[in-house]
Amino acid sequence: MSTTESATLHATAPAPLGGPTLPQERRMLTSIPGPRSQQLLARKAEAVAAGVGHTVPIQAVAAGGGVVVDADGNSLIDLGAGIAVTTVGNAHPEVVAAVQAQVAQFTHTCFMISPYESYVAVAEALNRITPGDHAKKSALFNSGAEAVENAVKIARKYTRKQAVVAFDHGYHGRTNLTMALTAKSMPYKSGFGPFASEVYRAPMSYPFRDGLSGPDAARKAISIMEKQVGADNLAAIIIEPIQGEGGFIVPADGFLPALVDWCRANDVVFIADEVQTGFARTGAMFASERFGIVPDLITTAKGIAGGLPLAAVTGRSEIMDASHAGGLGGTYGGNPIACAAAIAAIDAFENDGLIERANELGAVLIERLAEIQAADPRLGDIRGRGAMVAAEFVDPATGEPDAGLTAAVATACIAQGVIVLTCGTYGNVIRFLPPLSISDDLLREGLDVVAAALSAA
Ligand SMILES: *Cc1c(COP(=O)(O)O)cnc(C)c1O
Repeated sequence: MSTTESATLHATAPAPLGGPTLPQERRMLTSIPGPRSQQLLARKAEAVAAGVGHTVPIQAVAAGGGVVVDADGNSLIDLGAGIAVTTVGNAHPEVVAAVQAQVAQFTHTCFMISPYESYVAVAEALNRITPGDHAKKSALFNSGAEAVENAVKIARKYTRKQAVVAFDHGYHGRTNLTMALTAKSMPYKSGFGPFASEVYRAPMSYPFRDGLSGPDAARKAISIMEKQVGADNLAAIIIEPIQGEGGFIVPADGFLPALVDWCRANDVVFIADEVQTGFARTGAMFASERFGIVPDLITTAKGIAGGLPLAAVTGRSEIMDASHAGGLGGTYGGNPIACAAAIAAIDAFENDGLIERANELGAVLIERLAEIQAADPRLGDIRGRGAMVAAEFVDPATGEPDAGLTAAVATACIAQGVIVLTCGTYGNVIRFLPPLSISDDLLREGLDVVAAALSAA
């Protein structure tokens, strides 16, 4: 490239401010990736470790409402919310204001050295809004995986037992213990062992594939826990009430309550990993509510702080207090800027009608996907709650997962300016996790693109 070309490409107009005032439209000025995005991706390939992949080949410069804008001026419809993180909307004005105020005041003291109010306020809010009216306490961390690690630590300390049961298709993170808890080898675990010990796996209720009622699926899982682990050895079971990366698998009714009952009867801590399902996403503040369960411990992260890194473990006070002082924490856990953002985000979840909004968006998703399914048997299953909805693609003749079709549809959507994410043990699920700030019209337009991509595939 000549110097003039390079200079032109770098003399970019200042990026548009993000947030809800961005024009809410799908706008394709170049093919994807455009020239500026290509430049960044070339630098990424040189500078960033190959193991850190990306799904949408763009250079993001602004986002808000229901769109992500790239460096080439393309405006993409966002049906992924950065994996269920920007649930309140990207660059939400109240989150921006809270962050700006806090960052100018102080950026860090380390809560374990000099405590500050916002951390305590986030803990109070989580204790209040998580399911159950028992006495609760919280501890804050930086990532979902770190919250899961700490929930397991706390459960082990409380029960004085060691074993942990996770479920088929489960996803809990990329650290050593959470890789052990995660089911899928490629890409999460392959070559990264040895993994933490005393982790066992039970079958998940997967109505589309196992055909079992919730109670029957629970009996199967409990039998494995009793025979292969033993309640005397089992500190905790950890389960996503609706599985995320594993394929948005919604367990059959009665599965989760039966597991909770069994845990209560056997001194086993029931941990709900609500890192992906939490904070209005499923049309309730927490997905546990949709199944009528009250977990002992609940892990949260992703949607908690409008995009800032924050995570938490919240649960029964007697369990949360099991650790000696100094046993829990971390340098950055509950960073004041992330806490300020979380307070603003939680206020939006509670007071801006976002739970209702998740259900409205869910209705649009289910209605449109059902239309597509009626015309195309390759769309084998539609499932989800609220604004957490998935489409599972199959070979209609055999019911076998069709990962090739799924990848082709997702790639075509991105090329047309619609961000969709895939998931599933078999790679045959497209998941829809729009920010709750998206308009119905933009969501419908996005789904029209999905429908066209499927017809063309
Ligand atoms: C994303 C996710 C995690 C891991 O969270 P990170 O912040 O990426 O460490 C854990 N559990 C579930 C259910 C998740 O969706």
